[in-house]
Amino acid sequence: MDDRLFSDVLNFVAKSIEFYGDRPAFFIDGESYTYKVFGETISGIRTALRNRNSKSSNIGIVLNNDVETYSSIFAVWMEGCAYVPLHPHWPKERCQDIISQVGLATILDSSSADKDDSFDCNLIRTKNLQGNCEIQKNEFNVNDGELAYILFTSGSTGKPKGVPISKGNVAAFVGSFFDIGFEITENDRVLQCFDLTFDLSVMSYLIPLMKGACVYTVPDNVVKYTYIYDLMDEHNLTVALMVPSIINYLKPYFDEIDVPSMRYSLFCGEALYEDVTAGWAKCLPNAEIYNVYGPTEDTIFCTYYKYQREGGNKTCNGILSIGKSMSSGSIMVLDEEGHETPVGESGELCLYGRQLFDGYWKDKEKTESAFVLSDDGNRYYKTGDLCYRDADGDIMYMGRMDSQAKIQGYRVELGEIEFHARDFFKDRNVVCVAYENESKLTEIAMFIESDEVSTDELVSYLRTKLPAYMIPTRIMFVQVFPLNANGKTDRKALKSKL
Ligand code: AMP
Repeated sequence: MDDRLFSDVLNFVAKSIEFYGDRPAFFIDGESYTYKVFGETISGIRTALRNRNSKSSNIGIVLNNDVETYSSIFAVWMEGCAYVPLHPHWPKERCQDIISQVGLATILDSSSADKDDSFDCNLIRTKNLQGNCEIQKNEFNVNDGELAYILFTSGSTGKPKGVPISKGNVAAFVGSFFDIGFEITENDRVLQCFDLTFDLSVMSYLIPLMKGACVYTVPDNVVKYTYIYDLMDEHNLTVALMVPSIINYLKPYFDEIDVPSMRYSLFCGEALYEDVTAGWAKCLPNAEIYNVYGPTEDTIFCTYYKYQREGGNKTCNGILSIGKSMSSGSIMVLDEEGHETPVGESGELCLYGRQLFDGYWKDKEKTESAFVLSDDGNRYYKTGDLCYRDADGDIMYMGRMDSQAKIQGYRVELGEIEFHARDFFKDRNVVCVAYENESKLTEIAMFIESDEVSTDELVSYLRTKLPAYMIPTRIMFVQVFPLNANGKTDRKALKSKL
């Protein structure tokens, strides 16, 4: 097993900057930025960080699609700190909540100086800081026990919950990624189509930058799937990690898509259906296709399954298997008592290993309920995913056990939307369900127990509380909610009304 340290990971990036100075590190919004520019930008931000007022090691980064934002991440890491992403399109209240939960004192921001910034923090503007390209590896004062980042995911009680990931967790991910056998070189052109609030972005920028390859980003203000296809086609991309929703959108164009340059096409974040993958495989005649799986809590992804072009793929209800554990961890399917289920019997997928986080940010209760002690004496993380393993040890994914949904790959606790809608109405019952539309894309419907009223104010209110992908696309009124045998609101019966 590859047991590299996080300082090794940073040394790889430093070497890319040293050896490939004139080659492009990024292609952003139609412009290339060389490794030299990347190195200089990191260095300027490092100097500014060293001179910051507070010595707190958690640093906020306002996410923009530019070289300063990516450089900020590496400057933060090289200074022995962790980053906390703050999305400029998220409601201010949500960002402020994250700032106070972490107690952030410093925020790096590449936005222009005339942009409003009323966060209660020391703001460091990162545009035009002066730096040079001398990144001396001995200067990396990092250790694997420190945090690398804290990501806030949707929380069912109406508050985003913090997932702290250590530098050792990231180093373990990098090691087990390369253990799969992926060979990335300075000639690769790698797609980075994720918001930096989503941990799949970390693979998409970190792996290429370790190898001197070029990272191709996707701006916020474009139709994502067409932009991605144009990038693949015009720039002959060679590696791409995406959520399956993207190829569901691209499906009508499969006949026209031909990207022979693609070597590795990875999918993560949601169920990957075999039929759509078969169509996609024809668009990328030379690519190896992988279904990879994992929650944020287990650092980016932790299992992998290679799609077989010649057929004979393992599936459950048309969904491709998520395969086996990567090298730095282990997985078990456990029953309600915490015992491993026999082959073929479903249970909760539970995870353990060097990629696994220690617990939620300042939330002992949530942490305790997220882990289970298994028969092998280790503390496993309970994913909430219903799975079974076959006789070869491959894991079949059957769906979620709770009310978590995936919208374009983003994790959404339906309870968080319900919380805010109930808060708006005060006296009305609200239930959200996720459903698949005709194009197999997941959408959110909201049911309100009431006579029909205008929803404009509700939607405006939700927009001040939630990111755009969490706003329901359908709102329906039901005078009295149906109940199930346990006397609970019958979500299934409500869903059948769609
Ligand atoms: P997140 O923490 O946002 O990455 O969400 C993790 C959840 O996404 C998992 O617990 C699964 O429910 C789902 N997920 C991730 N990858 C896959 C996959 N390849 N197939 C099916 N579901 C997936």
